[in-house]
Amino acid sequence: MQAKILKLNKAGSPQAWIDYEEAALVASKGLVLWTMGDMASVLRGGYSHDGARSQIEIPAIIAVEGRVKEKSVPRITNTLLFSRDAYLCLYCGKQFARCDLSRDHVMPRSRGGPDIWENCVTACKRCNHHKNDRTPEEANMKLLAVPFAPNLYEWFYLSNRRVLVDQMDYLKTRFKNVLVA
Ligand SMILES: [Zn+2]
Repeated sequence: MQAKILKLNKAGSPQAWIDYEEAALVASKGLVLWTMGDMASVLRGGYSHDGARSQIEIPAIIAVEGRVKEKSVPRITNTLLFSRDAYLCLYCGKQFARCDLSRDHVMPRSRGGPDIWENCVTACKRCNHHKNDRTPEEANMKLLAVPFAPNLYEWFYLSNRRVLVDQMDYLKTRFKNVLVA
């Protein structure tokens, strides 16, 4: 899998993971304000008349000109939820493959529990089945961690399976929660 470039707005807030081609396009339009990190890639272009091949070096992080709009953390998905909880069942504490995991609503949906980050935890199918329509207290199942909504920086980390070291260093400076690596 090809690594992605972390695109920031001019305030330094993450906007998107983009591929090299898109980053090269942004750079060629002169929209890059500043960059951080080592070169993530050298993109080779076409050959000129003298036989030289053009190349664009793409750093791991680019800040791009444009209107600053505050991006909010997207809705919960199972992929990101399992990733937040490091594929651990937050009831029995064991690690499982994705196919054996499920999204558990701490306060059950049937009783008005919302489908939001703060009310959802990763649970193995067995624990989820056992808990059923009960709260952890009622089921006498202790939660191993308090579910949290990732902030934007944490969300960007969780949403890319191949984060480069420089990108991780940048995102990590704004982490609020302890992410299990
Ligand atoms: Zn379990």
